[in-house]
Amino acid sequence: MNLIMLGAPGAGKGTIAASLQEILNIPHISTGDIFRECIKSGTELGKLADSYISKGCLVPDDVTIQIVEDRLSQEDCSNGFILDGFPRTIKQALGLDNYLKRVGKKITRVVNIVVSEEELVGRLTNRRICKDCKASFNLRILPEGTTVCPHCGGELIQRDDDNEEVIKKRFCTYHEETEPLVEYYLKRRKLAKVRSEHTIEDTFENVLCALKLKGI
Ligand code: ADP
Ligand code: ZN
Repeated sequence: MNLIMLGAPGAGKGTIAASLQEILNIPHISTGDIFRECIKSGTELGKLADSYISKGCLVPDDVTIQIVEDRLSQEDCSNGFILDGFPRTIKQALGLDNYLKRVGKKITRVVNIVVSEEELVGRLTNRRICKDCKASFNLRILPEGTTVCPHCGGELIQRDDDNEEVIKKRFCTYHEETEPLVEYYLKRRKLAKVRSEHTIEDTFENVLCALKLKGI
């Protein structure tokens, strides 16, 4: 399966993609995670990415498309992949289509995770990520006083861009640049809409239904 997870910041794309990776055994590719790794290691790409990410803007399309093409060309993507946070612009979607055509592949499905904006802001401000395994958690559903990752014991930290000012800008960027992709994939009959107002488990069930994977 070649999947795309679409949705506003905080919709839960990463969490759902991580669970899908487990049951489908195909890699979860998050452009946000790739950029954060580059920032951490202080590479030139990291410096460039940071200058956009810290403002809530998108990293330029040509750079992002190239990174994803390189990643999708790796051996572990031969049986499928889950893209999380890419494409985020029409130009990226066209770039992806162009690449897939060249290598004789197609997108199977695009899962659009839909949540009210009010809930999204609550999720982003309460989001903590594990420094080590990168898992993402919501402070509201962790036992009070939790400071380490329930999976691996790593330190839980807040992402630099999960502060109110940058969050606002990320929503504007989402509406302007990413939302048109809903129409793009709808027209191509690839879109599956999944609401995510309740628990992670509920949302995951809905995603499995939408992908006709229930009972796997
Ligand atoms: P979220 O979905 O919560 O915003 P991500 O980890 O997917 O978080 O992305 C964090 C930031 O990384 C984005 O705000 C953007 O600056 C940058 N980024 C991630 N993916 C892309 C992409 N496909 N194109 C351009 N910039 C991206
Ligand atoms: Zn962890």
